Amino acid sequence: MTRIYTYGNPVLRVMSVPVKNIDAGLKKMADNMLELMMQKSGVGLAAQQIGKTASIFVMHVPPQYDLDKPEGKRLNPKINTPLVLINPVLDDRQGAQRQQEGCLSVPGIFAPVHRAFEVSVSFLDLQGNQQRLDARGLMARVIQHEFDHLNGILFVDRMPTIKKITLAARLRKLKRATEREIAAD
Ligand SMILES: [Zn+2]
Repeated sequence: MTRIYTYGNPVLRVMSVPVKNIDAGLKKMADNMLELMMQKSGVGLAAQQIGKTASIFVMHVPPQYDLDKPEGKRLNPKINTPLVLINPVLDDRQGAQRQQEGCLSVPGIFAPVHRAFEVSVSFLDLQGNQQRLDARGLMARVIQHEFDHLNGILFVDRMPTIKKITLAARLRKLKRATEREIAAD
Protein backbone atom coordinates (compact mmCIF):
# COMPACT_ATOMS: atom_id res chain seq x y z
CA MET A 1 0.00 0.00 0.00
CA THR A 2 1.35 3.38 -0.98
CA ARG A 3 1.39 5.87 1.85
CA ILE A 4 2.38 9.49 2.28
CA TYR A 5 5.78 10.19 3.81
CA THR A 6 5.65 13.00 6.33
CA TYR A 7 7.80 15.88 7.52
CA GLY A 8 11.00 14.62 9.12
CA ASN A 9 11.42 11.71 6.73
CA PRO A 10 14.83 12.14 5.04
CA VAL A 11 13.42 11.09 1.63
CA LEU A 12 11.62 14.47 1.45
CA ARG A 13 15.08 16.10 1.31
CA VAL A 14 16.47 13.95 -1.50
CA MET A 15 17.00 15.43 -4.98
CA SER A 16 15.06 13.52 -7.59
CA VAL A 17 16.73 11.51 -10.34
CA PRO A 18 15.62 12.03 -13.98
CA VAL A 19 13.44 9.24 -15.37
CA LYS A 20 15.25 7.32 -18.15
CA ASN A 21 12.58 4.79 -19.13
CA ILE A 22 8.86 5.29 -18.98
CA ASP A 23 8.16 1.64 -18.29
CA ALA A 24 5.36 -0.36 -16.67
CA GLY A 25 6.85 0.25 -13.22
CA LEU A 26 6.77 4.01 -13.66
CA LYS A 27 3.21 3.91 -15.05
CA LYS A 28 2.11 1.88 -12.05
CA MET A 29 3.78 4.39 -9.74
CA ALA A 30 2.03 7.29 -11.52
CA ASP A 31 -1.32 5.47 -11.11
CA ASN A 32 -0.65 5.01 -7.39
CA MET A 33 0.26 8.68 -7.03
CA LEU A 34 -2.90 9.82 -8.85
CA GLU A 35 -5.05 7.54 -6.73
CA LEU A 36 -3.47 8.69 -3.47
CA MET A 37 -3.70 12.38 -4.41
CA MET A 38 -7.41 12.06 -5.28
CA GLN A 39 -8.12 10.00 -2.17
CA LYS A 40 -6.53 12.70 0.03
CA SER A 41 -8.17 15.53 -1.95
CA GLY A 42 -4.73 16.93 -2.70
CA VAL A 43 -3.98 19.22 -5.66
CA GLY A 44 -0.52 17.71 -6.20
CA LEU A 45 1.80 14.91 -5.13
CA ALA A 46 5.51 14.38 -5.84
CA ALA A 47 7.53 11.13 -5.88
CA GLN A 48 9.36 11.94 -2.62
CA GLN A 49 6.00 12.00 -0.85
CA ILE A 50 5.58 8.29 -1.51
CA GLY A 51 9.21 7.56 -0.68
CA LYS A 52 10.52 7.53 -4.27
CA THR A 53 13.12 9.70 -5.94
CA ALA A 54 12.16 9.61 -9.64
CA SER A 55 11.53 13.03 -11.18
CA ILE A 56 7.76 12.83 -11.42
CA PHE A 57 4.76 14.58 -9.94
CA VAL A 58 1.01 14.56 -10.44
CA MET A 59 -1.41 17.44 -10.09
CA HIS A 60 -5.13 18.00 -10.12
CA VAL A 61 -6.68 21.45 -10.01
CA PRO A 62 -10.46 21.03 -10.37
CA PRO A 63 -12.13 23.67 -12.60
CA GLN A 64 -13.86 25.26 -9.61
CA TYR A 65 -10.43 26.09 -8.09
CA ASP A 66 -8.94 27.30 -11.35
CA LEU A 67 -10.52 30.75 -11.16
CA ASP A 68 -9.18 34.30 -11.20
CA LYS A 69 -11.51 35.14 -8.29
CA PRO A 70 -14.41 33.39 -6.50
CA GLU A 71 -17.17 32.83 -9.09
CA GLY A 72 -14.74 34.23 -11.66
CA LYS A 73 -13.26 33.02 -14.94
CA ARG A 74 -11.04 29.97 -15.48
CA LEU A 75 -7.37 30.92 -15.46
CA ASN A 76 -6.24 27.87 -17.46
CA PRO A 77 -9.26 26.77 -19.50
CA LYS A 78 -7.09 24.75 -21.91
CA ILE A 79 -5.36 22.68 -19.24
CA ASN A 80 -7.23 19.62 -18.05
CA THR A 81 -6.09 17.78 -14.96
CA PRO A 82 -5.25 15.32 -13.45
CA LEU A 83 -1.88 15.38 -15.18
CA VAL A 84 1.35 13.41 -14.79
CA LEU A 85 4.56 15.42 -15.29
CA ILE A 86 7.84 13.52 -15.78
CA ASN A 87 11.28 15.22 -15.67
CA PRO A 88 9.66 18.67 -15.37
CA VAL A 89 11.73 21.80 -15.99
CA LEU A 90 10.51 25.29 -15.11
CA ASP A 91 11.55 27.57 -17.95
CA ASP A 92 9.93 30.83 -17.09
CA ARG A 93 8.41 32.53 -14.04
CA GLN A 94 6.46 35.76 -14.16
CA GLY A 95 4.49 37.94 -11.78
CA ALA A 96 3.89 37.24 -8.11
CA GLN A 97 1.23 35.77 -5.84
CA ARG A 98 1.08 35.14 -2.12
CA GLN A 99 -1.43 32.59 -0.80
CA GLN A 100 -1.81 30.07 1.99
CA GLU A 101 -0.12 26.79 1.21
CA GLY A 102 -0.32 23.37 2.75
CA CYS A 103 1.16 19.96 1.96
CA LEU A 104 -0.01 16.37 2.40
CA SER A 105 3.43 15.64 3.92
CA VAL A 106 3.09 18.44 6.48
CA PRO A 107 -0.44 17.79 7.81
CA GLY A 108 -2.21 20.57 9.68
CA ILE A 109 0.33 23.28 8.84
CA PHE A 110 -0.61 26.18 6.58
CA ALA A 111 1.36 29.31 5.80
CA PRO A 112 1.52 32.04 3.17
CA VAL A 113 4.19 31.53 0.52
CA HIS A 114 5.35 33.85 -2.26
CA ARG A 115 5.30 32.25 -5.70
CA ALA A 116 5.42 33.39 -9.31
CA PHE A 117 1.92 33.99 -10.73
CA GLU A 118 2.73 32.33 -14.03
CA VAL A 119 5.13 29.55 -14.98
CA SER A 120 6.09 27.59 -18.06
CA VAL A 121 6.90 23.95 -17.47
CA SER A 122 8.35 21.45 -19.95
CA PHE A 123 7.96 17.77 -19.20
CA LEU A 124 7.39 14.30 -20.62
CA ASP A 125 3.94 12.75 -20.45
CA LEU A 126 3.34 9.05 -19.76
CA GLN A 127 3.60 8.31 -23.50
CA GLY A 128 7.08 9.87 -23.54
CA ASN A 129 5.97 12.92 -25.53
CA GLN A 130 7.56 16.28 -24.78
CA GLN A 131 4.93 18.70 -23.49
CA ARG A 132 4.88 22.30 -22.41
CA LEU A 133 2.33 24.14 -20.29
CA ASP A 134 1.91 27.80 -19.44
CA ALA A 135 -0.03 27.88 -16.18
CA ARG A 136 -1.33 30.69 -14.00
CA GLY A 137 -2.69 31.16 -10.51
CA LEU A 138 -3.23 28.10 -8.31
CA MET A 139 -2.05 25.75 -11.05
CA ALA A 140 1.24 27.67 -11.30
CA ARG A 141 1.51 27.53 -7.50
CA VAL A 142 1.01 23.75 -7.48
CA ILE A 143 3.64 23.30 -10.20
CA GLN A 144 6.17 25.36 -8.19
CA HIS A 145 5.33 23.52 -4.94
CA GLU A 146 5.70 20.07 -6.56
CA PHE A 147 8.81 21.10 -8.47
CA ASP A 148 10.30 22.12 -5.11
CA HIS A 149 9.55 18.62 -3.73
CA LEU A 150 11.59 17.13 -6.58
CA ASN A 151 14.49 19.28 -5.37
CA GLY A 152 14.07 18.33 -1.72
CA ILE A 153 12.47 21.67 -0.81
CA LEU A 154 9.30 21.99 1.30
CA PHE A 155 6.91 24.94 1.48
CA VAL A 156 7.80 25.41 5.15
CA ASP A 157 11.32 26.35 3.99
CA ARG A 158 9.77 29.24 2.07
CA MET A 159 7.33 30.57 4.65
CA PRO A 160 7.91 33.94 6.31
CA THR A 161 10.38 33.99 9.24
CA ILE A 162 7.66 34.93 11.72
CA LYS A 163 5.68 31.83 10.67
CA LYS A 164 8.81 29.68 11.00
CA ILE A 165 9.10 30.89 14.59
CA THR A 166 5.43 30.47 15.50
CA LEU A 167 5.19 27.03 13.87
CA ALA A 168 8.58 25.71 15.07
CA ALA A 169 7.17 23.71 17.99
CA ARG A 170 4.47 22.07 15.84
CA LEU A 171 7.00 21.20 13.15
CA ARG A 172 9.33 19.67 15.77
CA LYS A 173 6.43 17.60 17.07
CA LEU A 174 5.57 16.41 13.57
CA LYS A 175 9.22 15.53 12.94
CA ARG A 176 9.42 13.52 16.17
CA ALA A 177 6.20 11.63 15.28
CA THR A 178 7.71 10.77 11.87
CA GLU A 179 10.96 9.63 13.49
CA ARG A 180 9.05 7.38 15.91
CA GLU A 181 7.14 5.92 12.96
CA ILE A 182 10.40 5.20 11.09
CA ALA A 183 11.91 3.60 14.21
CA ALA A 184 8.83 1.36 14.59
CA ASP A 185 8.94 0.18 10.94
ZN1 LIG B 1 3.74 19.19 -0.80
